[in-house]
Amino acid sequence: MFESGGVAAEDVFAAEDVFAVSADLPPGVGDGVGSVLARLAELPGSPGAMALLAATDPAHLTVAERIDLIRAWERQIAWAASCQLPAVAALEDPGADEGPDPAPEAVCVPDWCREELSAALRLSGAAAQARLELARDLRGRLTETAAALRLGQLTEQKAAIIARAVRQLSDAHAAAVEAAVLPEGPGQTPGELQRALARAVIHADPAGASERAADAVERRRVRHYPLPDGMAGIWAELAAADAQTVLAGLDADAAKIKQALADAGTPIEDIPGLQARRVDALLGWARGALAEPDLPTAHGRRPHVQVTVPIGMLLGLNDHPGELTGYGPIDAATARRIAAEGTWRRLLTDPQSGALRDYGRTVYQPPADLREYILARDPVCSFPGCQRPARQCQLDHIVEWQDGGTTSEGNLQPVCLRHHICKTVGGWTVSRDHDGWITWASPAGNTYTTRPTRIDAELPAAPETPARPETTPASKPRPPPLPDNPPF
Ligand SMILES: [Zn+2]
Repeated sequence: MFESGGVAAEDVFAAEDVFAVSADLPPGVGDGVGSVLARLAELPGSPGAMALLAATDPAHLTVAERIDLIRAWERQIAWAASCQLPAVAALEDPGADEGPDPAPEAVCVPDWCREELSAALRLSGAAAQARLELARDLRGRLTETAAALRLGQLTEQKAAIIARAVRQLSDAHAAAVEAAVLPEGPGQTPGELQRALARAVIHADPAGASERAADAVERRRVRHYPLPDGMAGIWAELAAADAQTVLAGLDADAAKIKQALADAGTPIEDIPGLQARRVDALLGWARGALAEPDLPTAHGRRPHVQVTVPIGMLLGLNDHPGELTGYGPIDAATARRIAAEGTWRRLLTDPQSGALRDYGRTVYQPPADLREYILARDPVCSFPGCQRPARQCQLDHIVEWQDGGTTSEGNLQPVCLRHHICKTVGGWTVSRDHDGWITWASPAGNTYTTRPTRIDAELPAAPETPARPETTPASKPRPPPLPDNPPF
């Protein structure tokens, strides 16, 4: 079989894979590579089909066949996700080692599972939470969505969009919405599916939709995320009508900026476009806010933007990157430019400064110079994968003060409130070795080691540390449950 067509199947597929998957294919499959791929693009995933696709070399395929190969992989990926998600959902079940009748406290509470999953997969807490909730929904009432994912008709992304849209609905309303959107869902883009869901949700439960809209405003927020090339994004979630108000306001200021530039004689071709002027308008507002004389302080300082600059780079001796707190490394030229601006707080890293970094047992609260050093050394929360900026964290004594811990650089770390709670009541333990490696041990007995942050090569040198295993199974007691709804 597989002998006709433009290319012989044996030239593309490994023979054993062809024969392995051929048993899975229904009668009528053609003999050529193209027809096999076209058929696989319509079939549910399976181990045999995945092995066949993995052995397929796109270089031997026509463009049309490559498209079928991509479509076939998309189905396999959805199927693989449908295989992984039950394992994620099972995190909240008693483990096999708990015996047939586990004590209630032995069951993984949701908060506990989120930290274990985020540490194991190096996901943000929010991403781990989303994965857990999707797994829970698909195992529960969204059976049709789960089936569509398993068949490869829906991607995991679309399944998550459906799950999120109906999470607040009653079982009956969720079933109605699922039934309304699933027939068209496979053929829609995620955006189209989202709009169809919004319509279906309002149609199924108009009164509830109004209530949820009012509640959602309470959760309005602004988030920041890094982008390549020294860029970053600002993401705001707010009521749809308020978002239009913000855009209209930015457009009004952008028009004023354009008018001012034109009045100053700027050639029309040098005036930035609308998108750039919207950003300039936003930035103008933020700079004005930071220039206010009376601002609340955090860690003893008024709000400011901090850039950490290696002294050798600032002197022009090298082009080592600087560190923009809350973002990460920035190129030397940009760091030099912003370090020269008066509104920025500069922190020079100098291994020869001799700054006191160990106050022993003389003080509990870290003094300002030690606090600044820790916040610059560790830009984010020390929990594996957590990106909460250090300035929004608490400075934690790794060995607790009451247990003899010192106020020193080796015993302090920034930890966000959520992960501080994990450490104090959630059953997690933390240790830091002399090279700066921080190891978090989970209540399940796994350990996750994070690399020490090196802002630049001029920070006090840490010796090369050999790679070490990230996960070490061990036996540990189960944790007490975390408090409900921590405030973050
Ligand atoms: Zn954290």
